[in-house]
Amino acid sequence: MSEPIVRIEGLAKRFGAVEAVAGVDLEIERGELFALLGGSGCGKTTLLRMLAGLETPDKGRVLIGGQDMTRVPPHLRPVNMMFQSYALFPHMSVADNVGYGLRREGVARAETDRRVAEALEQVRLADLAKRRPAQLSGGQRQRVALARALVKRPKLLLLDEPLAALDRKLREGTRFELVRLQEELGLTFVMVTHDQEEAMSMASRMAVMNAGRVVQVGSPHEVYERPASRFVADFIGIANILAAPDGRWLALRPEKIVLSATPPGTAHTAAGRIVDIAYEGGRSLYRVALDDGHVMMVATANIGRIPDESFRRGESVWLGWAEDAGHLLDA
Ligand code: ATP
Repeated sequence: MSEPIVRIEGLAKRFGAVEAVAGVDLEIERGELFALLGGSGCGKTTLLRMLAGLETPDKGRVLIGGQDMTRVPPHLRPVNMMFQSYALFPHMSVADNVGYGLRREGVARAETDRRVAEALEQVRLADLAKRRPAQLSGGQRQRVALARALVKRPKLLLLDEPLAALDRKLREGTRFELVRLQEELGLTFVMVTHDQEEAMSMASRMAVMNAGRVVQVGSPHEVYERPASRFVADFIGIANILAAPDGRWLALRPEKIVLSATPPGTAHTAAGRIVDIAYEGGRSLYRVALDDGHVMMVATANIGRIPDESFRRGESVWLGWAEDAGHLLDA
């Protein structure tokens, strides 16, 4: 296998009493869109900043393209970072913002103009090159920040919550845009996000972090279908955690359970009563109190059925799931 573009070895960083990053090992392959996902304060931003060289590790090493970059300053790393705030210069035009880094490096005027035009084309902003940031929408500003990062042709682009400043609708469209660009340009993106949907829908692989540590690495599918621990099962999506016969725990996703008015013919069944219903359009989420006192979450896809005609609160129902519907947890 080829050398990973990023190799992180035993990386640790402490701020006073807080162990922000507590010994992380990670490999990121070329061409990946890799997400660092975790709740507030889990250390994902600190890890990203150590990749960029904006934070100095207490312990461990960062290798980029096989070279030890642990003590190399940010501007000498083959890395660019797109900040959450975008940090655009308000008095400069879009084109000047994008070309700023190249001009500062002393790249010739003609070359700068060509590369700026190319980057603006890539993010579909060629028509707005002369505007100031204040004359742009939030989504357009995000694309200027992206063009400014792309114009330097970094091997590795680091994105800190790239979509956080956008409203929900725009965020969904922009996810596809970012993935398209990353694939078309053949770049490696490492993205920090606290939004599991964002990580799930964009990343080729992701690292789930908790309290300064990486608790699972895998594709979105692996992490969702085969969570390593109760923490991951709970953090990503919704999980019913059941006691397995061997003393371990089993994670059972709500959509793996069927809801039925009569006892279903599945390997496992349980009787209960619906206590809450959250109708979400494409699916409905049911909270069902089982006769043994447990509360289970069940999701139904609302396909070809008018939700009004489905189950009601207070109704007695049966739950059923297949033998292999759950996933045994290791911790
Ligand atoms: P968020 O999503 O809230 O930004 P995060 O997962 O990115 O969280 P970090 O920003 O990496 O978390 O912070 C990890 C821990 O380190 C937090 O407890 C934070 O308060 C602390 N921390 C981060 N930077 C500093 C700093 N410069 N000085 C002191 N403490 C810091």
